[in-house]
Amino acid sequence: MMDLQTEIEKREIEDLFEDLLKSFTRPLSAEHEQLIRKAFNFANAAHMGVRRKSGEPYIIHPIAVAKIVVSEIGLGTKSVLAAILHDVVEDTEYTLEDIHNMFGAKVASLVDGLTKLSGTFDSKQASNFRKMLLTLSDDVRVILIKLADRLHNMRTLDSMPYQKQLKITSETLYILAPLAHRLGLYAIKSELEDLSLKYKSPETYKQIELKLRSEQERINYLVFDFAAPIQEKLRAENFEFDISGRPKSIYSIWNKMQSKNVTFDEIYDLLAIRIVFKPKEGISEKRQCFDILSLITDIYTPKPDRIRDWITIPKANGYEALHVTVMGPEGQWVEVQIRTERMDEIAERGFAAHYKYKEEGANESELDRWLLKIRELLRNPESDALDFLDEFKLNLYSQEIVIFTPKGEMKMLPKGATVLDCAYDIHSELGNHCIGAKVNHLLVPMSHVLKSGDQVEILTSDKQTPKPTWIDSAITARAKSKIRDSFKQEQKKHIEDGRTELNEQLEKLKVKPASNTLKKLINHYGLHTKEQLYAEIGMGLVSLDDLETTLHEKSVNKFVKFWKLSFGGDKKAENQVIDKNKPFLLTENQKKANYLLASCCNPIPGDDVVGFVTEGGQIMIHNKSCTQALKMMSSQGDNIVEATWTKSKVLSYLTHLYIKGFDRQGIAHNIINVISNEYGINMRSINLDAHDGLFEGNLYLYIHNTDLLETLITKLSGIKGVDSVHRKDI
Ligand code: MN
Repeated sequence: MMDLQTEIEKREIEDLFEDLLKSFTRPLSAEHEQLIRKAFNFANAAHMGVRRKSGEPYIIHPIAVAKIVVSEIGLGTKSVLAAILHDVVEDTEYTLEDIHNMFGAKVASLVDGLTKLSGTFDSKQASNFRKMLLTLSDDVRVILIKLADRLHNMRTLDSMPYQKQLKITSETLYILAPLAHRLGLYAIKSELEDLSLKYKSPETYKQIELKLRSEQERINYLVFDFAAPIQEKLRAENFEFDISGRPKSIYSIWNKMQSKNVTFDEIYDLLAIRIVFKPKEGISEKRQCFDILSLITDIYTPKPDRIRDWITIPKANGYEALHVTVMGPEGQWVEVQIRTERMDEIAERGFAAHYKYKEEGANESELDRWLLKIRELLRNPESDALDFLDEFKLNLYSQEIVIFTPKGEMKMLPKGATVLDCAYDIHSELGNHCIGAKVNHLLVPMSHVLKSGDQVEILTSDKQTPKPTWIDSAITARAKSKIRDSFKQEQKKHIEDGRTELNEQLEKLKVKPASNTLKKLINHYGLHTKEQLYAEIGMGLVSLDDLETTLHEKSVNKFVKFWKLSFGGDKKAENQVIDKNKPFLLTENQKKANYLLASCCNPIPGDDVVGFVTEGGQIMIHNKSCTQALKMMSSQGDNIVEATWTKSKVLSYLTHLYIKGFDRQGIAHNIINVISNEYGINMRSINLDAHDGLFEGNLYLYIHNTDLLETLITKLSGIKGVDSVHRKDI
């Protein structure tokens, strides 16, 4: 072999290994130490000659993972063995059987679990989750070692290519950090989140980090000033305690800035003071925590709604503590956390601590019950992978759901979010043109409530415009306000257009737009206000072609109108030539489409639909199951037109364009505007991702011919900031 370790590297590796052995808090038995050495020598030889992306010998990684397993999670020898060996089966020619022969069944099964969990989760999520949970219920240590593995990879993410960094950080934020949280590993969870933010949004991360550092002096002073009187009181009461101040993690600051829409300076709980004490004998831990609370509130005024008792009812992950927010000496809110040493250990080490107490015969904890539930679910052959996934994710996020784009990208949405919310979350143009979605490959209306784990493909139509009823189909503030805005603008424009058109037509006939005239028209079309009349004209629902006749009509008979329609009395109908014997083809070329989509049922391509000839001679398309349509089918038989969707491939083919360039405000809007408004091209999906001042995007479009494609590419390339546009394979 060529590329072996240098002398310096050998010494470095040896030092790291010795350091690992020293990090055990309880002294290692000779037998265990020997086993660990054996694993190290074996793994070192197995990975010999292989280097990490950073150029280091590979073995440094498993040793570092083992170190985290011992000193940050607190697991024992078997877990350390598994950590040292975790990449051997995956990356070298040794098999699980070799591990089994050398280290026994338990270590082999842990390594097996870790091998199965290697790679990323973003493809075939459901089956991977199931796999993950099977191992979780089998032996939770697999997950803990996996978390250590990920933590070390995140700590050394620098040498990875950017794409890979994004992929790993997304996955970390999506599944591993919440899992760490669920298992109560606070320190690891926070570090995973901070590192994710650091690689995902380096600028934001740096800014917050700088601000925090500039606050540090003030924080130190505050801790000293604030804590002094508390310390005095606790000493007077003979408590054995430790008091410390911790700033909030960068990620949680960022998260708060995002979710509460506040600036850094507006975050009042940047700092928490933690009191960890050794409980006195003979008095319950809970009593003593409340005693300390009372000592503190004797000094500082508490915020009435900010006392959190996690002792009486511990958090689902086992966390116990008493929290109180009080007014500090500088007129600042400070959170104080009160914990016993036992509670502190659970808070820091989470599941591992539970594990320890369980072995010592402690009661079944909340977490154990959760694990038990998972085991039951897994044993039940009826529960399919997706249900299972939902159940699991509901446990991870109570307030948020996670959905996937067709390409496997993840999006977080609030619980209860609909297809429409999702569309507006991606882009307001996508929302405005949304006609529904495919969720897990099934067509659903825009009001469909999404569940965690759903794969969502938003369907759009250029003909689509927001309707006032959409407000009820959305729950996010973003979607609601976009709908209102767009509807207001749309309506205004329709009214304006309609008024202009009507006035022009009336002028040609030398008729003044007097209120009598308007009233006549309003009655004729069965409307109520002149705004409605203008709007209907503006929207093209009311045709003015027979304005003169209408104005001279004494009264209107529905029968006459049908008659006119059937015999081509209406010009629009004439243009369209409706052959009621043949199905009416609904093109996906929306710009040319000569039909309207009913707003009551919002039919989408692929739906079973039926058409009705409107008074204006256009075809209104309803979903066959729509109650409105049922009513019309039974009452207006003459107006029914059979309608079917044209298959998209007849008229257009799906094309993938990859676009990248320099990010600037409004660039997404410009791009979508060109595609949708200037060229009227139908979008299947579109996603734009900005990072570090750059953006890239994948556009999936229905293109009719190559000429159009070339024109479009030229046009898109001309947008300020766009660097390149390429056609890619689907
Ligand atoms: Mn690894």
